[in-house]
Amino acid sequence: MTITLVTGANKGIGFETAKQLVALGHTVYVGARDAERGEKAAAELGARFVQLDVTDDASVQAALARIGAEEGRLDLLVNNAGILANESLDGPAALHAFDVNAVGVVRVTEAALPLLRESDHPAVVTVSSSLGSFWAVTNPDRPEYGLPLALYAASKAAATMLTVQYAKAHPGIRFNAVEPGATATDMTAAFGIGRPVQESARVVVRLATLGADGPTGTLQDENGVLAW
Ligand code: NAP
Repeated sequence: MTITLVTGANKGIGFETAKQLVALGHTVYVGARDAERGEKAAAELGARFVQLDVTDDASVQAALARIGAEEGRLDLLVNNAGILANESLDGPAALHAFDVNAVGVVRVTEAALPLLRESDHPAVVTVSSSLGSFWAVTNPDRPEYGLPLALYAASKAAATMLTVQYAKAHPGIRFNAVEPGATATDMTAAFGIGRPVQESARVVVRLATLGADGPTGTLQDENGVLAW
């Protein structure tokens, strides 16, 4: 049985990723910051709710402590929680964007590392974005070129870099970042863009389930490795 934690799993890509992993037989912990939303999602998925706000150290510590007490290990961590942070461009907005999208990855990963080390085939997948790829945003032929989402892009660049650095520091754990594809979720609703969440979650699940001889330290989309 694969023990899995998905952060921000009460809706969107995280919810659908959790659903597909449950269907593959994983024991999935649905991390959500709001108990009501999280409980409802977990019940619908046949998964377990764990309260987890990626901006709150105590919440993250308690969530991983519970998984440790119940399972003794963690096989797969999906760092999915994220925000678009496009309402303003100032200090507080920047701190919040980085707190959720980048520092949150550090908080959860650091708390998870002791449990990941107890797994035979540990893996971490961070749902990042091609908007955090210097290659993509400086390439006029790419859609990312025309999207001025400074805080989102910068914080996702940090999330991808953290993934690469974690992969180098922990060769026994597979760390990869993923661009799931433009997806119709609450995050993108104002733009009216994106494909069904099922298709994008499949990209996350593929990278998460590649097996012990899979790659590490990469940023990938559905076509494979993406320059970052
Ligand atoms: P979404 O529907 O808005 O879902 C975001 C999830 O993150 C929600 O469950 C939300 O919980 C959670 N979250 C936000 N702040 C949190 C916090 N402090 N602690 C814990 N959870 C928190 O968006 P989505 O499109 O599914 O996005 C999922 C991931 O995919 C994000 O990392 C996003 O950047 C990435 N992504 C999305 C697209 C796209 O086109 N949609 C493309 C590339 C990458 P609440 O319900 O409590 O707010």
